[in-house]
Amino acid sequence: MMINSAAGPLSAEKLGATLMHEHLVAGFPGWEGDTRAPTVSRSELLAICLDRIQELQDGGFSTLLDPCPSDLGRDPELYAEVAARTGFNILFATGLYHEKFAGAYWKLKLSIDPDAASNLAGMYVEELTEGVGPARLKPAAIKLAIGEDPNSAFENILIEAAARASVATGAPIITHTEAVGGDLLLSKLTGFGVPAHKVIIGHSCGSGDKAYHRRIVDGGTYIGFDRFGIASIQPDEVRVDCLHALLKEGFAQQVMVSHDCVFCLRGRMMPASMEAHAAPRSPLHFSREVAPKLRERGVSQETIDSLLRDNPRRYFCEEVPQRQPGLAASAQPA
Ligand SMILES: [Zn+2]
Repeated sequence: MMINSAAGPLSAEKLGATLMHEHLVAGFPGWEGDTRAPTVSRSELLAICLDRIQELQDGGFSTLLDPCPSDLGRDPELYAEVAARTGFNILFATGLYHEKFAGAYWKLKLSIDPDAASNLAGMYVEELTEGVGPARLKPAAIKLAIGEDPNSAFENILIEAAARASVATGAPIITHTEAVGGDLLLSKLTGFGVPAHKVIIGHSCGSGDKAYHRRIVDGGTYIGFDRFGIASIQPDEVRVDCLHALLKEGFAQQVMVSHDCVFCLRGRMMPASMEAHAAPRSPLHFSREVAPKLRERGVSQETIDSLLRDNPRRYFCEEVPQRQPGLAASAQPA
């Protein structure tokens, strides 16, 4: 199975240890107008990214997916340059951000277009099959972001467009949620014909509701525990407790772990809750701080490795995850 990476086609067997939700750079639409915000030159930006990638390589990782929406500072040329200089695999996405923070351009454009969903799907398909920008770099996945309102007309267009493009190309979908409505989102996507195992319900660890997590994995989809270290949204203790519950119940094949780090944030963050994204966090936080807490609870290193290696590969290879016997049936350390 070949996957699109910023450096060209990549064999799924070469993914290795993979973080499925990190960002090299991001900026809310309009950040360029904040002329008093600190600026980062292209060479400084590149240096920051190279440092972080080196850190990841030293920590045993070989791939990350940067699911930055195209209206949030997505930069395929940067990904390609960092990949070329490091040999690290960088995958990126096509898609738009959710209504609250989406670019005004898209809000207007989709609101006045009677065929908005199919036109947007057409653009996603073109990016996925023909590439984007002068170098025709191809995304590996479709980013779909939703907020808290399931009736948002803007987001229902995004959902339909993402589903149509996925069905047309076979590309998987990675979602942003506000840790609510992920189960409803999944049912909308499967209603358009997207298989559940081609979807990640992202940021679900922002909820501490184990029944909510269970509804998501029972739907056969992947669940994103992909904001480890963002304490202002949810303390890691709760994320670990909820992740452990899923592993105990045998859902290890369906969890994607990551941090949602932003190596370089453009402009200045306004909402306090978003400051956490900008605060420097190590993309090795899961390996260094979270994995030991899971091991203390009896999760084997083999299971932890499998979250980082097997689940991303399975997602891109379109294999259906299977429920396992769970921790209760496996050997417990003394
Ligand atoms: Zn993100």
